[in-house]
Amino acid sequence: MHPGSDMISVDEARERILAFFDRLPVERKPLLDALGQVLAEDTVAPFDIPPLDNTAMDGYAVRAADTTGATASTPVELRVVADLAAGYVHETAIGPGEAVRIMTGAPIPPGADAVVPFEETDEPLRGPNEAPSRGSNVRVLNAAGAAANIRFRAEDVREGQTVIPGGRVLRPSETGVLASIGVNEVTVYRRPVVAILSTGDEITEPGQPLLPGRIYDANAYSVAAMVRKFGGIPRLLGISRDTVEDMTRKIHEGLDADMLVTSAGVSRGDFDVVKDVLAREGAIDFWTVRMKPGKPLAFGAFTAADGRRVGHLGLPGNPVSSMVSFELFGRPAIFRMLGRADWERPSIRAITRDRVVNTDGRRFFARCIVTQGEDGRWYADLTGPQGSGILTSMSAANGLTIIPEDLPAAEPGDEIDVMMLDWEHAP
Ligand code: AMP
Ligand code: MG
Repeated sequence: MHPGSDMISVDEARERILAFFDRLPVERKPLLDALGQVLAEDTVAPFDIPPLDNTAMDGYAVRAADTTGATASTPVELRVVADLAAGYVHETAIGPGEAVRIMTGAPIPPGADAVVPFEETDEPLRGPNEAPSRGSNVRVLNAAGAAANIRFRAEDVREGQTVIPGGRVLRPSETGVLASIGVNEVTVYRRPVVAILSTGDEITEPGQPLLPGRIYDANAYSVAAMVRKFGGIPRLLGISRDTVEDMTRKIHEGLDADMLVTSAGVSRGDFDVVKDVLAREGAIDFWTVRMKPGKPLAFGAFTAADGRRVGHLGLPGNPVSSMVSFELFGRPAIFRMLGRADWERPSIRAITRDRVVNTDGRRFFARCIVTQGEDGRWYADLTGPQGSGILTSMSAANGLTIIPEDLPAAEPGDEIDVMMLDWEHAP
């Protein structure tokens, strides 16, 4: 066996993790609270949209034939028989030579077959408060084409049509479409609750005084923020000391969640307690994943009091490794539980302006800043030092390079793949 032969690839680690998780049960909730969740059922339109032919403009509903030949110099005069606002219906048919003054969205009165906008009548030429009203005449200055300015019944949605299929993620547009057919509650797959535990005697809760030799807990917060951003519900379990008792107790407090995430204590040289607890309490594998940052990773399951198996992701302690590992493995797990298949980040080809050295045969996710050059092409600049403890490199970056395992270096001017962290879609 050559060194590193017990390593697994990023893709294999992800496949094993994805294979563990399933879509969660459904819940019924108010429409707006389900933003970003996945609809569990088809939504069928109970009526047509629009439900009636209506006007797209403020103007006059007319019989188009009555306006034939109308011009500014040879206007046609029509008698205004009603003034109709949106939300009201005019039920009597309009006869020859008649018009209804009508506002955008109001149903077309029977008998009318076109709408002449105000601008094509003499209404704007009149003084303020002198608009034609019921009983007076309006002059039409332009012949109306058949069906001009009418929005037809069912031109958007037809009764019985599936407006949004199950499996679709609720974005603002879907939310609007559902509201437009009167839906105020939806059935969606439940959001996963992710319990997060930091471990280590040196770790201190932000807001508390910092003793010499200690550091603040960055990982619980960066991971919780990712959980929320990816659509899950984070539950902070606090910080466990490096003792079997404390760790065991805190892990058990987290087992009512859908997933447990711990940070630190999974590297080879670490204090053994974490591994002891994990190995004794759960069915946990310790992996070395062929990636940089973040080589050590634990994955397995604990059994909750009710017999449920709760997936456990053991992240490396270094803050950058912890974030990159959660990005690569936690995000797909959350998406899977939400019922989403689109967990993959958009990636683009960019030209690196730096030399990116990658000598140890791992996939290198260097933090970089992608910008578009004046030539329209995308360029990637490293954020600076790439140590896995330099968390500000994550904050400066909008992307992660994907330097393949077998590429020892990317040279300035080379095209590389970059996984974009803030983009919802590739450009
Ligand atoms: P370990 O995996 O326990 O060997 O930790 C690796 C490095 O990550 C050490 O420098 C730890 O102090 C640091 N570390 C561990 N947990 C955290 C945390 N929650 N926040 C920030 N740094 C951490
Ligand atoms: Mg430690």
